[in-house]
Amino acid sequence: MIKQRKSIGFKIGSVEIGNNAPISVQSMCNTDTRDIKKTVRQIEELTDAGCEIIRLAVLDNDAAFAIKDIVKQVKIPVIADIHFDYKLAIQAINSGVQALRLNPGNIGKRENVEAVVKLAKQQKIPIRIGVNAGSLEKKLVDNNELSLSEKLVESALSHIKILEDLDFGLIKVSLKSSDVLTTIDAYRLIAEKIPYPLHLGVTETGTLKGGLVKSAVGIGTLLAEGIGDTIRVSLTEDPVEEVLAGYEILKSLNLRKHGVNFISCPTCGRTQIDLISLAKQVEERFKNIDKPITIAVMGCAVNGPGEAREADFGIAGGIGEGLIFKKGQIIAKVKEEKLLDRLETEIKNHLFNS
Ligand code: SF4
Repeated sequence: MIKQRKSIGFKIGSVEIGNNAPISVQSMCNTDTRDIKKTVRQIEELTDAGCEIIRLAVLDNDAAFAIKDIVKQVKIPVIADIHFDYKLAIQAINSGVQALRLNPGNIGKRENVEAVVKLAKQQKIPIRIGVNAGSLEKKLVDNNELSLSEKLVESALSHIKILEDLDFGLIKVSLKSSDVLTTIDAYRLIAEKIPYPLHLGVTETGTLKGGLVKSAVGIGTLLAEGIGDTIRVSLTEDPVEEVLAGYEILKSLNLRKHGVNFISCPTCGRTQIDLISLAKQVEERFKNIDKPITIAVMGCAVNGPGEAREADFGIAGGIGEGLIFKKGQIIAKVKEEKLLDRLETEIKNHLFNS
């Protein structure tokens, strides 16, 4: 069991953050925020996949105004992602956004920062400070004494200080780098220094396969150490994949239960069925179950039911037929072409009659 780092708790919209609340899964739309229809549609798809908080890029005034219509139509809280322009932050708050992602040191004059923070405080709008290795302040880039992870931490601390000096405490922090070890190191360092919740992510990870691995290693390592309150898997892909991957990471560490936990064996010389195809079919057929359940697909009857005895239900393949098992106990022997239907019947009976 993982002991989570204790952080200050607050809400983003209706979602509890920090203070040992469930670690929430975030994503970011890749639509033009000004295109309200498209953005709402993508948020709905992401919500269906389990996304709990969504971030939108606010590039101009039209985007900040569009948030007014977007927040009315979606079920999850919206974070406005703002760079440099304090007026966009103010408009986003006035449009009803539930949090900001903004680095206070990047929005110019003191009075501009004060104006944003005053309004955020009045409306209890949290601010996520998001430090990125690619956009560090010049004086930190030029500092040869500090490692990159230390520079990320220093940058975050300077932004945090600005908010703290204005008596603002609804702070969340992220420190992202495309290098996994730098990211891990930076989060470990800052976790010791501040009480605020941490948003985890490895940035610019690449396309699906490499991105999943880097994110799983980076985010997973930190979560296993109890560090992290919200996560985003960043992928050059449909953001729905980010959400699904986020839950896979959390499920693998027993930090969240979310829909089906699939198990399948790696196959070996004992495999007696086209397991790769069968496993994909099982995953596809049951992907919409939203209750926590573990389903196994194993390649042989000799070891399959025993190796997957923790699964709620499973299939063990044979020649032209297969076994259906429940918690390691065989409950039916079925022809190969009927395996999926029979498994579905058993799972439905279990889900709806128990
Ligand atoms: S379950 Fe059977 S087929 Fe699959 S890896 Fe184990 S021994 Fe091999």
